[in-house]
Amino acid sequence: MKRELNFEGSSPLLYLIATPIGNLKEVSPRAIEVISEMDFVAAEDTRNSGKLLSLLGIKKPFISCHEHNEEEASEKIVKLLLEGKKVCYMSDAGYPTVSDPGVRLVRKCLENDIKISVVSGPSAAINALACSGLDSTHFYFQGFLPPKEQERNRVLNDLAKREETLIFYESPHRIALTLIAMAATLGNRKAVLARELTKTHEEFVRGTLPELAALDPASLLGEMVIVVEGKTNSPTEITDDQIALALRDELEWGRTSKEAIASVAKNSGVPKNRVYAIYLSNFKE
Ligand code: SAM
Repeated sequence: MKRELNFEGSSPLLYLIATPIGNLKEVSPRAIEVISEMDFVAAEDTRNSGKLLSLLGIKKPFISCHEHNEEEASEKIVKLLLEGKKVCYMSDAGYPTVSDPGVRLVRKCLENDIKISVVSGPSAAINALACSGLDSTHFYFQGFLPPKEQERNRVLNDLAKREETLIFYESPHRIALTLIAMAATLGNRKAVLARELTKTHEEFVRGTLPELAALDPASLLGEMVIVVEGKTNSPTEITDDQIALALRDELEWGRTSKEAIASVAKNSGVPKNRVYAIYLSNFKE
């Protein structure tokens, strides 16, 4: 066990800086103060962070540390910190390490007795949760779902049992399929899509998952968080609309009608003849 005050003594310390998720005015005076004191700024994207620093009127040498070079970059950063240099780390938006690189860097610092501190800032997940109006006593942060259909559905089926409010990150090119899969697996739950937080076109779409799944994907551009109500205790009967959405999801992935019907019946436990009837009324010309 190790116990040490962060701001006592002069042993090395890595600062994590949470950066704006849209509105650049959300950089805090403390972030400006800490960054100004650094010898080096390590960043996920040095061009992006370079723009932020130049807006703040700060000039610092950068070290690139992203998903694909985090191991080697961390060695370099640790070496500088152990030599007594001051270094901070920032990702593109929000908190480093949260659906972003930084965890390997933090671990490498801890292994080398380097302390860690954070300069607080905005978080897309917490902003969305706070504005959602859904239960925020307990929540589960999923972040991005796996990109492959089978793995994504396995994760969603596991999440379906959780009673906490669920928080997801998603990109515009996958949002349509993700909402369909969520509606098919999680059912008729309340959900809020929080788009372009802190930016000029900030928007909240509040409804149920099937309603969100029916939105025109062309209207869902930019960055977004989806907040979904947790499992309630009242048992909900699987609806025809949910089955139709599950079928649509399977068909969008290129399954034949026969495969789609078999898979939806198997996953939902609904008899095949009911799934077939729903297929006929929704998809057969
Ligand atoms: N490290 C960040 C954090 O602390 O929230 C998350 C980075 S992750 C690579 C990017 C995802 O965060 C986006 O795809 C989106 O889901 C969410 N996000 C980031 N900025 C956002 C914003 N302004 N509005 C809505 N969602 C945002």
